[in-house]
Amino acid sequence: MINNDYITFTIEKVKDIALIAHDNMKDELITWCKDNLEILKYHRLCGTGTTAKMITDKTGLLVKGYNSGPLGGDQQIGAKIVEGTIDMVIFFSDPLTAQPHDPDVKALLRIAQVYDIPIANNKATADFLITSKFMDTPYQHNVINFNKNVLDRAESL
Ligand code: PGA
Repeated sequence: MINNDYITFTIEKVKDIALIAHDNMKDELITWCKDNLEILKYHRLCGTGTTAKMITDKTGLLVKGYNSGPLGGDQQIGAKIVEGTIDMVIFFSDPLTAQPHDPDVKALLRIAQVYDIPIANNKATADFLITSKFMDTPYQHNVINFNKNVLDRAESL
């Protein structure tokens, strides 16, 4: 890009996908993973602790588990987005039940937005994402140039 406020990053053909489901949504995500197994098996999968273990147990897909969501798993996944090692998030959140870790959930949604990461928080969006032509090809997107951002801020504040 000419304007160096942003850097062009590539989401590669094989993607690092994070899978998360709140407790009432875990069955739905497991079913979704089974329905999309033939696609998911070509990508690298990770997730919050319980979700990751349940998907592995019930589908055979290898899903690397971070901590459980309420114990910081969502924050770990957010940190991986910042580090550039997660490309996509499928997050079946529960819109009808209060979560003890609601601030962490909001933080994850926000950081995915900042880093222009595709994130689905319901099944219809997940279906559209997983059938996107970009699932099978590299995709370039523009992300805030964090090094320049720090230099500019340190100089101007
Ligand atoms: P869990 O966490 O997969 O460990 O249940 C999910 C969440 O509640 O964020």
